[in-house]
Amino acid sequence: MSEPAEEESRNSGEGAETIRETPGVSAAMKSAEASEGGSRRIFVSLPPPVEPASPESRRATRILWSRTTSWRRRHADILVAIEWVAAALFLLLALYFLWLLLFPPLPIAASPDEIVRAEFRSRLRLLPMPEADPDWRVASAPGRWRGVVIHHTATSGGNAEGIDRFHKTVNRWENGLGYHFLIGNGKGMGDGEVAVGRRWREQSRMNGSHVVMTDAAKGGVFNMPHTAKGNEFAIGVALVGNFQIGLPTPSQLAALLCLLSFLRKEYGFGADAIVGHGAVSASGTDCPGRGLLVDEIILVLSRP
Ligand SMILES: [Zn+2]
Repeated sequence: MSEPAEEESRNSGEGAETIRETPGVSAAMKSAEASEGGSRRIFVSLPPPVEPASPESRRATRILWSRTTSWRRRHADILVAIEWVAAALFLLLALYFLWLLLFPPLPIAASPDEIVRAEFRSRLRLLPMPEADPDWRVASAPGRWRGVVIHHTATSGGNAEGIDRFHKTVNRWENGLGYHFLIGNGKGMGDGEVAVGRRWREQSRMNGSHVVMTDAAKGGVFNMPHTAKGNEFAIGVALVGNFQIGLPTPSQLAALLCLLSFLRKEYGFGADAIVGHGAVSASGTDCPGRGLLVDEIILVLSRP
């Protein structure tokens, strides 16, 4: 049997003259009848009084409430910790987006090769070539230098002193900085600033330490016998930066063009004797990264 039908049958059973309202109203109605001596029926519309809760329901409410509050009280420290962690995460996220806004990632990240190349070309031609530094000129044995190997430091920043220290302590190279020249990117040393390494200034006493060359490379563009060592005849030029994930700055490229054209004039090697580390390395390396396009540099240097 459905409930509405039961309700209806109960209503009809209570008598036709009783107007069924809420229990509170019928009680008020009865008291009004009494005061009027039963002569008239007065309908008073009063709000229903709050029905007193049964002891069972009060007990149940109390238990529920105490459970809730004691759980909160017991775990208050955890809740506060969660709130702090959430706030910290939110702050970190906000800082990250602010960082992205202030220092947008270089276009190389996840960009196709042609976009990297277009960006590299535009940076390569952005600034005029600066003047060569007289400090670069060091007395060299005739015919010693056959070309240049270009590197990146694979770091976001750095300077000659830092890399010198690294090569001394980590690589355990007594003479420190393995490159002959280092070109800064504005983080640790000037953007486009060229540092002359000790191995260049004291080239009569020591070799560079930047490449282990394949025999094919030695016999190819450098026209050297297999027995010769790359570090004896190749000049090491490194640019500060990680060009697997970014591009050299326009100032770095302007300085690099200037340095390379100075070295070519000084030692008379062809533009094709300028190579990236990876192209000649016997052990294989990504250096100087996909964001440093040596063929584009050669193209600029080959122009009359
Ligand atoms: Zn390298």
